[in-house]
Amino acid sequence: MSAADEARVLAAVPDGLLIGGEWRPAGGGARFDVFDPATGTRLASVADGTPDDGIEALDAAAAAQDDWAATPPRVRSELLRATWELVQQRKDDLALLMTLEMGKPLAESAGEVTYGGEFLRWFAEEAVRITGRYGTNPENTGRTIVSQHPVGPCYFITPWNFPLAMATRKIAPALAAGCTVVIKPAELTPLTTMYVGELFRQAGLPAGVLNIVPSTAAGPLSERIMDDPRLRKISFTGSTPVGVRLMQQAAKRVLRTSMELGGNAPFVVFDDADLDAAVAGALLAKFRNIGEACTAANRFLVHEAVADEFANRLTEQVAAMRVGRGTDPEVRIGPLINEQAVGKADTLVRDAVQRGATVRLGGGPVTGSGTFYAPTVLDRVDAGSDILQTEIFGPVVAITRFADEAEAVRLANDTEFGLVSYVFTRDLARGQRMIEGLRTGMMGLNVGVISNAAAPFGGVKQSGLGREGGFEGIHEYLDVKYTMTPNPFA
Ligand code: NAD
Repeated sequence: MSAADEARVLAAVPDGLLIGGEWRPAGGGARFDVFDPATGTRLASVADGTPDDGIEALDAAAAAQDDWAATPPRVRSELLRATWELVQQRKDDLALLMTLEMGKPLAESAGEVTYGGEFLRWFAEEAVRITGRYGTNPENTGRTIVSQHPVGPCYFITPWNFPLAMATRKIAPALAAGCTVVIKPAELTPLTTMYVGELFRQAGLPAGVLNIVPSTAAGPLSERIMDDPRLRKISFTGSTPVGVRLMQQAAKRVLRTSMELGGNAPFVVFDDADLDAAVAGALLAKFRNIGEACTAANRFLVHEAVADEFANRLTEQVAAMRVGRGTDPEVRIGPLINEQAVGKADTLVRDAVQRGATVRLGGGPVTGSGTFYAPTVLDRVDAGSDILQTEIFGPVVAITRFADEAEAVRLANDTEFGLVSYVFTRDLARGQRMIEGLRTGMMGLNVGVISNAAAPFGGVKQSGLGREGGFEGIHEYLDVKYTMTPNPFA
């Protein structure tokens, strides 16, 4: 990809807020800048939505709601499918745009275009399979009809780490179910969502069904929208503290709520594991997305009999990973999103080292331009270290050793989070005991990547509520209605 490609892709991002089918300036004309984390250079200036703009977006979503809900499911399905096709056609440009604003290597951005695009295709298929039930009550005095109906206008807030997939994972099921949407993408990476919004428009999505309001005023904008009685649902992906706050705000109007929050994934390697598979899985579970994933392996729990060999092999592979700007096809580790992210990772590493962890590799920021952190492997991390209780969100492996299965289960569950767990074992019964013993919303058994549009993504405990993707995903956007009728033969 050349500098000319970069300029062309950036120029293709629509300018403005998408409200009522048109891209228009923010109220007052305010704008904010988006930067390339690999170089610190400015990529674009974006319209900065105000709370009033948020209400205008909700006006548009509310005005479009009834017609969209009444649009034949087949038509809703075909619009999603047409958008998926446009995403395929623009795959390279979307991947480059994502790498520019977020920093992940191009190959990973291309992977996210595939994964994120799949939600459009999957929910195009689900839109025509919204069903109900008809039954006889036990007394045979009546008939019960159970039907499903769109929840109504939805508000979405998404994070910066997966700029495309986090948006499509919400937009696609909502549109499939017959709901209209206002979305506020992360202010650090709004460009990919804006680009996809334009693809929806080009596919023929009616005005007002999808509205996009980038904003640096996330709190006030969200409060205004959530305080409006026309809104019926909030879906948020981001950190647990912000999710908790939004749940409190949602309580005021008893909004339907989906929360995809933080993680603290254990990566458990038993002494019977296939170590080649475990190391390959560890590289994916830890270093994909530069470690900036809610699904990132945060705590490596390794049986003491294989810990040295696992750590040696993993360190050897990590040492060979090239760090740099994600546009370079040789690069495996891009920059962290900003200075705060580097500072957070470094504080956690220092705390672990101070408590006795051994540094096998890396251990600090990379000096120079951009916000890079050296791929790091820490071994013998003390149980009291902050790194074991905090999302690292960076390319840092923290290894702790365990003696037996009971200890592995206890350590794995020793967290407030419960998003995903990874387990490597060749013993089927042990794998089944781990499925039953780990308090987690998702599990990778002998694999290091679990995300799939056809599977229900989501967490337990402080990792959130609700599921995205799979058969479950569309139900987040449907209300159940039950109707009693008389026995027609009585
Ligand atoms: P964040 O919570 O800081 O921000 C997420 C979004 O919330 C952004 O759009 C931001 O503008 C907005 N926001 C911030 N304060 C707000 C407020 N007071 N009111 C309304 N909106 C507000 O999270 P982040 O740093 O962008 O993303 C990283 C976090 O997201 C990590 O904790 C990660 O685990 C989590 N995450 C979870 C999943 C999942 O599916 N469970 C997926 C990706 C990321």
